[in-house]
Parts: sequence; structure tokens; C-alpha cells
Amino acid sequence: SARSDDKSYAVFDLELGAKLAHEQKLVNDLKLALVSEEFELYFQPQLSLQSQKVIGAEVLIRWFRDGNWVSPAEFIPLAESAGLIVELGDWILRTACEKAQHLISHGFNDLVVAVNISPVQFARPDFLNNVTEVLEITGLPAQNLELEITEGVIIYNEVETLETLKALKDLGVKLAIDDFGTGYSSLSYLKKFNIDKLKIDQSFVGHIASDSADKSIVKAIIELGRNLQLTLIAEGVEELEQLTVLQDMGCDEIQGYYFSRPLAEQDFIQFMQNYHVK
Ligand code: C2E
Ligand code: CA
Ligand code: CA
Ligand code: CA
Repeated sequence: SARSDDKSYAVFDLELGAKLAHEQKLVNDLKLALVSEEFELYFQPQLSLQSQKVIGAEVLIRWFRDGNWVSPAEFIPLAESAGLIVELGDWILRTACEKAQHLISHGFNDLVVAVNISPVQFARPDFLNNVTEVLEITGLPAQNLELEITEGVIIYNEVETLETLKALKDLGVKLAIDDFGTGYSSLSYLKKFNIDKLKIDQSFVGHIASDSADKSIVKAIIELGRNLQLTLIAEGVEELEQLTVLQDMGCDEIQGYYFSRPLAEQDFIQFMQNYHVK
């Protein structure tokens, strides 16, 4: 009836209103957090399957707000839509490179630190300059920095993307395609862009030991990467069973809770010392 319809609309509006208010509050807090630097960078180890050693780490941002951790899956998209991602992304890149240089100067010479780059950040005309400057200022060798971009970056503006990616390669920075297989772009970009690594998305890895469709997809990705001479890394590896399947398929590197959750800097150093990568 009309009456119950009205009622459900009212409930819906209330929920939507509450959601918007929550988001507005988060955006305001994000602005404040940028000023007071409430963020921290965590490191999740990436291991070579062949050597079983740590070869790198993905940098993942953490926000400690009012005594709670806010998930980046929640605040990164908000920072993107609110126009805060440029400032936040610059802070992440600079701080990640500072910390990476610190680790390298402590003997972890070959460590490659992978930084997530938002498509909005990547599309900025000054992005290349920023990367160049950050490497200069921090003294981090370009080959120790990897940028994780998604297929979304490539759809954005192909001509300019091609130029930026070429210039980044000339700098010596490494490039990885994050969440590979979940984007909507064609595969032709793999031919045009000089990519180093494909990150097999965790949505394919989770049931790889039991789901034959997931297994087929990952197998095809690994074969594709192999033929294009790209490094293959699987993310979201939580169990030995998954690791074994990936190893049998010829996957090069592994990232996931099986080896380690993302770690605070000191814990990451401890982890590396235990794995004797120095
Ligand atoms: P992502 O780039 O795909 O990062 C991988 C996510 O998977 C991370 O979640 C990581 O903690 C989680 N993860 C790693 N191993 C496992 C595992 O074995 N099992 C499961 N279930 N999860 C695992 P997190 O840190 O919550 O980040 C979520 C997303 O937020 C990231 O997805 C990325 O899109 C974004 N993000 C995080 N840090 C940054 C950053 O510094 N800059 C930008 N632009 N985005 C970031
Ligand atoms: Ca990533
Ligand atoms: Ca990913
Ligand atoms: Ca993702």
C-alpha cells in the first residue's frame, strides 16, 4: 500500500542521510589527519618462491582515528572523490621512499618497495616530476621503487599514460599492474606499455585450490605473463595449499597472510632479519 511505501522511503532516506553524514565527517577528519599526520605506512613482505626470501614489500597505509583503525578500502575512495588523494598520495610516496631508503641504508640493498598509486594521482601533470623529485630528495635508487597501478590508470588517457610510463621506465622505476584480471581494459596495453610485473588479484587466489575456474584463470595469467617475460606475483595467499598450486604453475612471487600480514616498520625489519635477507 501507499502507506507502507512511504514508510520504507522514510527509512531509506534516514539510512542514506546517515551514510552521507558519516562520509562527510570522515572527509573532514581526513583533512585534519593530513595536517596532524595520523597516518602510518605498513609493509607487507613479498617473497620469492624460488629463494623463499623477502624481495620486497607493498606499502599499505593505515589510519588510526579516535582509537580505531579505519580501513584504506573505506577512506582511499573517499579521499579520491573529495580531491584529497593528491596531497595524501604525495605524502605516501615521499614517506615510503624515505623509509625505503632508510631500510636500504641498513643493509637491505635489494629490497623493492611497492607503492600504490591512485589513478587520480597518476593522471596529474606533475606526477612524473614528483616521482623524480622524491627520488632525488630521499636518495632512493629508482630500481628500489615499484609503482602499483591498476588497469584503470591505463583507460584514463592512453596517450599521456604511455608517455608517463615510458618516462618512469627511463627513470628506472619498476611498474606493476595491480589487481590484474579485474579491470575492464583489453590486453593490448601489455604490448604497448613496458610493464615489469603482474599482480594476480586475490579474488582468483582465494579458492585456487578448490575452484577449477579460478585455477584456469590463474594458469592463463601466469602463461601470459611468462610469454611476455613479466614477473608474476600472487596476492592474498593465506594457505600452504594455495602456495603449492601457485608454485606448481610457475608463479614467481607470493604476498599474503601465509607469510605475513602487513607489518609496522620495526616488525618488518624484524621479519626480514629472521628470513636472513641481508
Ligand atoms: P590492494 O592494493 O589490492 O592491497 C591488498 C590488500 O589485501 C591490502 O588491504 C592487504 O592488507 C590485503 N591482504 C594482503 N594479504 C592478504 C591475505 O592473505 N588475505 C586477505 N584477505 N587480504 C590480504 P588493505 O591494506 O586494507 O588495503 C585495501 C586497499 O586500499 C588496497 O588494495 C588499495 O587499493 C588501497 N590502499 C591501501 N594503501 C594504499 C596507499 O598507500 N595508496 C593508495 N592509493 N591506495 C592504498
Ligand atoms: Ca596494491
Ligand atoms: Ca591488489
Ligand atoms: Ca584491490
